[in-house]
Amino acid sequence: SLSIGIVGLPNVGKSTLFNALTKNDALAANYPFATIEPNVGVVGVPDGRLGRLAEIFGSAKILPATVDFVDIAGIVRGASTGEGLGNKFLANIRESDAICQVIRVFDDPDVTHVDGEVEPSRDIETINTELILADLQTLEKALPRLEKDAKRNAKDKDSQELLAAARAAQDILDGGTSLYAAKDVDLARLRELSLLTVKPFIYVFNLDSGELADEALRAKLQELVSPAEAIFLDAKIEAELAELDDDEAQELLESMGQTESGLAQLARVGFDTLGLQTYLTAGPKEARAWTIKKGATAPEAAGVIHTDFQRGFIKAEVVSYDDLIAAGDMQAARAAGKVRMEGKDYVMADGDVVEFRFNV
Ligand code: GDP
Repeated sequence: SLSIGIVGLPNVGKSTLFNALTKNDALAANYPFATIEPNVGVVGVPDGRLGRLAEIFGSAKILPATVDFVDIAGIVRGASTGEGLGNKFLANIRESDAICQVIRVFDDPDVTHVDGEVEPSRDIETINTELILADLQTLEKALPRLEKDAKRNAKDKDSQELLAAARAAQDILDGGTSLYAAKDVDLARLRELSLLTVKPFIYVFNLDSGELADEALRAKLQELVSPAEAIFLDAKIEAELAELDDDEAQELLESMGQTESGLAQLARVGFDTLGLQTYLTAGPKEARAWTIKKGATAPEAAGVIHTDFQRGFIKAEVVSYDDLIAAGDMQAARAAGKVRMEGKDYVMADGDVVEFRFNV
């Protein structure tokens, strides 16, 4: 499955946040078959629709979609030259599908900052620079081979385009810019080079709880990273929230002027950044959100439940969540003509409530 790697300089609150992420015991208990590695935190994506479906269908359990976060330890200045845990760090990032950087904003004289003082923009720059340097190294190593290929296969469009894309990428990186938002490079062409700065970024600003409601500060920080998404949280509070039951957690959040925990926001934004969406199933046993790639067809969606469902796919009985809620229940939705039969070319929409028909 897709995962998001958590990175950041030392002492910014990564471990504190990651511990909060892995305290999702209730969730872990619902996924007994998942092998969960010690450096992986599985976080449920909050979805209010599941509660409503569980009411309508009398479902015993609610299973939200999940996002995997991987704790990637070890970035320091010089990681790209193999300093610290540099090489292992870069290899771990290569395996992640998106990168989440935790940035320290909180001030605490008892917690030293590796670079002397708290300065979010410099921390962002430090990590960007390491990733850019690592990508430049990758390109420098690859270019002689790509040039040779392009020369040898002068009529082969693929090798010409790959070389052109690699050179364009090198120019951009030389200018100190990540590739992610680059417009003039064919990034898809470069996939085989496993570059790091093509991955989408999410920024987590670790604030003092007193700063969480400071709109001016948030706007300033958001501007540092736009158009990337920013999440604002207090990692220590998130760790506390993870220990509380739902009502207590809600109370603590409200006392800080927040409606949703930072982890919940992170899970939602992470899910979206990975290019994922859900469809829903519901019955007496469970109301459940299933994870698919945006643009997945009905048989592909069925395959997420079981490969046999994809192989033997006949059709999907689909009602959109809003139509189902408006009608009140399945029977009423059917009577109102809102339940559609979709075939193998149907592209799933977010919030489709589905039952698959298949041959076994
Ligand atoms: P890491 O090195 O990035 O994994 O950082 P840690 O999670 O170990 O945090 C370093 C220190 O900062 C620990 O003593 C944490 O308790 C403290 N810390 C983490 N988050 C916050 C925060 O939001 N506010 C304050 N005041 N301290 C924090």
